[in-house]
Amino acid sequence: MSIQREKVIPAKYIPDVGSYVEKIDGKDYLITNDAMHTFYRRSKGELSPFFLGLRDEKKLFGCRCTKCGLVRVPPFLTHCPDCNFAPTELVEVEQVGVMNSTPPITYFATSLFQHMAPYGRGRVIFQGADTALSVNLYTTTGILVPGIIKKGTEVKLVFRDNRIGEMTDVFCVPTAELSKEQIEKKGLQESEINWESPVEPELPAASQEDTAMYNKALAEMKSIIEEMNTNERARKDIAGWKRDILVKTRGGKFAIIIDDGDIKLEEEAPSSPDFVMVCDDPNILLDGLAYRGAITDSVINKKLWISKNMEFNTIFKLDRMARSVARSKKA
Ligand SMILES: [Zn+2]
Repeated sequence: MSIQREKVIPAKYIPDVGSYVEKIDGKDYLITNDAMHTFYRRSKGELSPFFLGLRDEKKLFGCRCTKCGLVRVPPFLTHCPDCNFAPTELVEVEQVGVMNSTPPITYFATSLFQHMAPYGRGRVIFQGADTALSVNLYTTTGILVPGIIKKGTEVKLVFRDNRIGEMTDVFCVPTAELSKEQIEKKGLQESEINWESPVEPELPAASQEDTAMYNKALAEMKSIIEEMNTNERARKDIAGWKRDILVKTRGGKFAIIIDDGDIKLEEEAPSSPDFVMVCDDPNILLDGLAYRGAITDSVINKKLWISKNMEFNTIFKLDRMARSVARSKKA
């Protein structure tokens, strides 16, 4: 198997050789794409054993003061300031811990962290440690929404499959979502966790009224999606993107198919969707597509559930398409 190597600067940020004209105060100015290189190598210094522990041994290290016994994680001190600078020693701590506070969740990250969003970021006190370590947090039940991980929630450290010796080599998930064996296993890797079958919210049976409401919403969504498909700006929003989305609502299910600029609504459910969207009230999704409120907000507010964390990107694109259509109407 070939390993795809990532570049320090992702290819998408590297502009093509070329130039363009920018109009400023009625005058034309020629702008040329150019570059300035500043790559550098950074030493982890005295923290090297800690990061090597993450990368090579799948171990979490702290430092224990040889005098007072306080264990700090990460081991950022070689000498204890509380004990007249008595030396500290490297010790391994457990990989299960407790949230020290309720973590904030980042849904809209800067370009540097976009590929990881949405994620929680919080401080965990691992068993055997006296201080808290700041880590990223995820759930295996779909997208991370408020309430899943709180102050006091027990979490488990999970190691990325590809590790380079950075803090992002690890993250935590609630132990309540793992088996006893997984919780006990040291060096548990992301690929050992089942991310593919999160528990879908159940929908109540549809009444006649629900079905009528569904059919009305479906017809409106169909016409909006057809409009998106003919809108140049909206088509650009999904260039290069391919997703078969299964949408389940009270009253019925259907598919939204995104295929490199094309988007369509199909009344037949796809056999192997890329992800599932569950939305009790179909009008929630309809409002988002019609640019009467963002679909991303509905995900965060738990009105709309998606089966995969990373598909928040797709939701974001659908919102962008709704905005593109609205903007075209204004112009
Ligand atoms: Zn001490």
